[in-house]
Amino acid sequence: MDPLVRIENLWCEYQVGIPALKAPELEFFAGEITFVVGASGSGKSTLLEALGLMTKTAKDSPSFSFALSDTNSNEVLHLDQFWEKEADYRSSIRSKYFSFIFQQENMFSSLNALENMMLPLLGCTVQEQESAHKSILSMAAELLPEVELGKPIMEYSGGQRQRFAFIRALAKPHTILLADEPTGNLDPLKAQEAIDMVKSLVNSGKSSAIIVSHDICLAISKADRIILIDKPLNESELPPFGIINPEHIFRKTQDGWKSSKLELSDDALQSLIEESLQSLNLK
Ligand code: ADP
Ligand code: MG
Repeated sequence: MDPLVRIENLWCEYQVGIPALKAPELEFFAGEITFVVGASGSGKSTLLEALGLMTKTAKDSPSFSFALSDTNSNEVLHLDQFWEKEADYRSSIRSKYFSFIFQQENMFSSLNALENMMLPLLGCTVQEQESAHKSILSMAAELLPEVELGKPIMEYSGGQRQRFAFIRALAKPHTILLADEPTGNLDPLKAQEAIDMVKSLVNSGKSSAIIVSHDICLAISKADRIILIDKPLNESELPPFGIINPEHIFRKTQDGWKSSKLELSDDALQSLIEESLQSLNLK
């Protein structure tokens, strides 16, 4: 199976010469949910922002490559020179291929819930807007059966607004959903329901998702792949930085989890991740 996204030699930095994250090789596949786990400060948000072309941290080098397959046209976009391109091109790529959920729900306080969820569809065709409107209503009936959608957004609870943020991101046409700790404000049951909604869209072939989470159990129960951002190296006098080792990129199999070197049960993977989180002391 060809990957949807293939990246080689991603090196993210906020200050020249000081790495925040290194990933020699990354692949994401259509129709899958990948969870990214790792300690605080290990570079999870940095990875997501680099993947979603939100922040220019990926260092340009001859060995860096970033290929995204357009599953409709079978065309492969080479995005390693993305930041050299015109602003219009950059925003068209972002809005065509990506949808985002952040830890903060980022709603417009002057709009009601439905208007907030429809907002990313402003540039879409009438048919796309109508179809998104229908799916918003059906997702809301599932995720928020107790509420009506016409109230000003700030009159809902934080957890309800976060569920609206899930619906907003899923309703917008996209190829890849990127979510940064999207279930942080939800209780465990609501978190599962929200991820199940992502899963059903992913299973229907309409989305692929990359989700950063602190919730290891949720990752193990819902992911098709899990990427563990590892113990940062301490190279000479550099501050520690996150690294993604191929042997800590796991694919779900019938019996558990498999990487380039390891085959682990759910429990063994959970212990490995917990150990990695505990051994990190970044600050
Ligand atoms: P995580 O999401 O895993 O908690 P981040 O990706 O936010 O980690 O951060 C990874 C590293 O990059 C940390 O050392 C953090 O301090 C640093 N970092 C994150 N954002 C910035 C920024 N805007 N400027 C400088 N350093 C940053
Ligand atoms: Mg983060």
